[in-house]
Amino acid sequence: MKDLTKVVHHPQVDQKGFVSLAVPTCRASTIVFDTARDYAERKQRGPDGYTYGLNGTPTTKTLEAQLSDLEQAERTLILPSGQAAIAILFLAVLNPGDTVLIPDNIYPPVRALCADFLAARGIGHRIYPPMAGSAIEDFIDDSVKLIWTESPGSATMEVGDLPAIVAVAQARGIFTGCDNTWATPLLFKPLAIGMDFVMEALTKYVGGHSDILLGSLSMRDLHWHQRLRDCANMLGIGVSPDDCALALRGIETLGVRIAHIGKVSTDFAWRMRDHAAVAQVLHPALPDCPGHAHWLRDFRGASGVFSIALQPALDDHVDDTLAELRIFAIGASWGGTRSLIAPMAIQERLGPPDGRQGRLLRISIGLEDPDELWEDLVHVLDSLLDRGPV
Ligand SMILES: *Cc1c(COP(=O)(O)O)cnc(C)c1O
Repeated sequence: MKDLTKVVHHPQVDQKGFVSLAVPTCRASTIVFDTARDYAERKQRGPDGYTYGLNGTPTTKTLEAQLSDLEQAERTLILPSGQAAIAILFLAVLNPGDTVLIPDNIYPPVRALCADFLAARGIGHRIYPPMAGSAIEDFIDDSVKLIWTESPGSATMEVGDLPAIVAVAQARGIFTGCDNTWATPLLFKPLAIGMDFVMEALTKYVGGHSDILLGSLSMRDLHWHQRLRDCANMLGIGVSPDDCALALRGIETLGVRIAHIGKVSTDFAWRMRDHAAVAQVLHPALPDCPGHAHWLRDFRGASGVFSIALQPALDDHVDDTLAELRIFAIGASWGGTRSLIAPMAIQERLGPPDGRQGRLLRISIGLEDPDELWEDLVHVLDSLLDRGPV
């Protein structure tokens, strides 16, 4: 070979004896084939074969296989974000004339997807109260093809009766799916209670370091895997193996992180109930959280996100007071090592007004020293009381 050819042909080095604990990052657009016949027959390589970079490399497939195992799924598909995973699922399952049911405490961009994108394409949606349980029946007509759930709802924290919803859906031949980002597969396994699909925003706890955007869709039915992958392919959607490698690194510490932050968040939730600035603490582990009994029955524990509803009379002072935070950062997209607070109006998360007013602080516990976090929170709540009468 001449030099100009040599510079584009990498030498094959011996990989025998190279056994690393880390998953290698395999990047590829082109996959090459031994023969023209292999190339012509590449579509027959099945769900686990390699055909083109968009369909995955060994790095992507390692993450998919690891999540499938944790979710008790037949297959998993990795997508560029949690929102992309939900959008691909809805686009693949729903046709014009179909309706999807969504809870009123849903992650707000999903409601926007339904109202501002799918509606114009003939796909309807109906909003149900998160505590509907078997009364979900009242929202069903012949057009309903999919019931989407999110539990606990990520700001108001209601824990729905998901097995009751699954029972109704199965009796009517309707598909069900769950946004399981709060619990992760370590604390809840939606497929094990009969759901057809589970979505995780890997961006949050699996990534664990606030530096990637990824989502996963896991399912029990191989046939759906092909349909969802075809849908993503037709839309030209794939993921970077580098991001998957970061998720594979993050998932290794998921167990210890969830155990720690679950303990701290539950401890803080109990203690914060006594503060005069707080109207209500919304945390699934507290007995007065809507759906607490469902959480006890269905989940293996708590993760680190919960909300506090502040006394409405203190509303005007919230923004100024939060500037005094020293350890907590202000921001959304929780699940990393840093603790976060996101102030939000209760109404931002709720569909039909339910009379509640005031502001929520959504709190995500990170890995800092718990005593220092507690001091920071109490300081801000005390300061809020100092500024305004309840
Ligand atoms: C963040 C989040 C999503 C979306 O995930 P992205 O990767 O940011 O698109 C979906 N559902 C819930 C509950 C979330 O918290």
